[in-house]
Amino acid sequence: MTRTGVEPAVHVAVDRIACDGRGLCAELLPERIRLDEWGYPVLDPTPLSGADRRHARRAVRLCPRLALRLVSEIPTHG
Ligand code: SF4
Repeated sequence: MTRTGVEPAVHVAVDRIACDGRGLCAELLPERIRLDEWGYPVLDPTPLSGADRRHARRAVRLCPRLALRLVSEIPTHG
């Protein structure tokens, strides 16, 4: 929660240069990450909630190439 009382939207992002495309993240977070035909992650861009955030933090921590990160954004209106 921020000082403005607005809950930031959090989603997973990938550094496509660092990623080696072996797909561990899709095993750790299958509800948000699937693999393309070459084994590289395709991320669901919708904000994470509750248990998904916990699983996403684990996937970020365990990515062997440090290619995953969580991104927080304050939703804008209008
Ligand atoms: S675990 Fe990391 S290096 Fe492996 S495919 Fe996923 S983002 Fe890429």
